[in-house]
Amino acid sequence: MGEFEPVIGLEVHVQMATQTKCFCSCKIEYGVEPNTNVCPVCLALPGSLPVLNKKALEYAIKASLALNCKVHQLSVFARKNYFYPDLPKGYQISQYDKPLATDGYIDIKVDGKVERIRIHRLHMEEDAGKTIHEGGYSYVDLNRAGTPLMEIVSEPDIRSAVGAKLYLEKLRNIMRYIGVSDADMEKGQLRCDVNISLRPKGEEKFGTKVEIKNINSFRFVQKAIEYEIERQARILKKGGEIIQETRLFDEKTGKTFTMRTKEEAHDYRYFPDPDLIPMRITADYIQKIKNSLPELPDEKEKRYVEQFKLTEYDAEVLVADKERADYFEKAVSIYPENPKSIANWIINELLGKLNEEGIDITESPVKPEHIAQIVQLIDSGAISSKIAKQVFDQVFKTGKEPKQIVEEEGLKQVSDEGEIRRIVEEILSNHPEEVKRYREGNTKLMGFFVGQVMKATRGKANPKLVNKVLSELLG
Ligand code: ADP
Ligand code: MG
Ligand code: ZN
Repeated sequence: MGEFEPVIGLEVHVQMATQTKCFCSCKIEYGVEPNTNVCPVCLALPGSLPVLNKKALEYAIKASLALNCKVHQLSVFARKNYFYPDLPKGYQISQYDKPLATDGYIDIKVDGKVERIRIHRLHMEEDAGKTIHEGGYSYVDLNRAGTPLMEIVSEPDIRSAVGAKLYLEKLRNIMRYIGVSDADMEKGQLRCDVNISLRPKGEEKFGTKVEIKNINSFRFVQKAIEYEIERQARILKKGGEIIQETRLFDEKTGKTFTMRTKEEAHDYRYFPDPDLIPMRITADYIQKIKNSLPELPDEKEKRYVEQFKLTEYDAEVLVADKERADYFEKAVSIYPENPKSIANWIINELLGKLNEEGIDITESPVKPEHIAQIVQLIDSGAISSKIAKQVFDQVFKTGKEPKQIVEEEGLKQVSDEGEIRRIVEEILSNHPEEVKRYREGNTKLMGFFVGQVMKATRGKANPKLVNKVLSELLG
């Protein structure tokens, strides 16, 4: 975008993985019969009163701390008033001027450079129900009404479409690490509104922003931003003005279009919810939750580099998914002698194969035990790395132990020098012409001889020994 720089801020809703809703004890379930998980509270029947789900508060505090936020000891629920058929109370319980947490950040790595994206605030709120339009009718399903959400608002610190995607991926990853949400975008557990404006490169002042609402995949977030950058740049270049408005993204055309302009914006008339007392959270409670936080991806990455001497890139790939990191650590715990090689096998062989077959790492037919064993077999000289690939493929197909496969298929490396010498001698006497040329100075033929030995041993000869014996006998 030559002369313009995009300025992007994200508002993300994350559904918390509590068993029950935020202010009543209805179960949270995905894909069940409509209006089965409802009660007087989430149906807004007169006289019903909300009671805060303590687990939801715990999860929200956990997330706040994992996102480096300051958790406030006093925090207030507010009513956000608007009318919609899937909002039975006529207001949503949310937080306004006293949110649970503020002033956090997420570090992302764009082109190998760390960028800090500040988080403005994290607050709790309840979800609305769902309106389904079908065959000329509209239906309301209130199973989702009252599900606890966190709204996480970033500062306008993101500078590219890729940056926005990386921020979201990191956010999802952190939520999964701490177990407060599966943050699955397909299931609507993570929803994202994008705010975006352009400014001339070098300019401090922000331009007028546009909000793109309800984008439902990482890819579409990136696409919507890319489109919007083009659109705004086109207008600005012609000397036009950006209108502050809310837009929607059309997945089919890849374009955004106007949903409503500023004049049509809601006035939500926020006020403190008199049914819910202000939350007072003790410093002890916050500390207790802080102590319970697991190792987070950034710390893990650092530790992998220091403790296991992995490259930053490898460490980053491994921690990018909690299950992947767990897999790696399990393998290393079984065979601690060579974490680097274990990392290589996971990154270079396993991940590609799983991706190809569309299998999740938790369902991998090649278990951490197997990777550990394969690396151990290579390190002990029992098999060559080339044969190891064959073994790996067999384990992937059959789920059998690597050792068993090596045994059954006779794949053990030939490391008996006498035997290799015999084979080399035979090959040299079968190829007098090549031997002559080699001795006359055509040393490139070494590769030919090595190839012949490998062929004769079906790849099982110990390559170091082959080279040694060949050098000796060829002089
Ligand atoms: P609003 O009052 O319109 O909701 P906020 O100040 O609450 O705006 O910000 C909402 C989101 O928009 C935040 O994520 C923020 O970082 C982002 N944002 C604010 N101003 C801009 C801007 N000029 N360009 C891009 N994003 C912006
Ligand atoms: Mg806003
Ligand atoms: Zn209920």
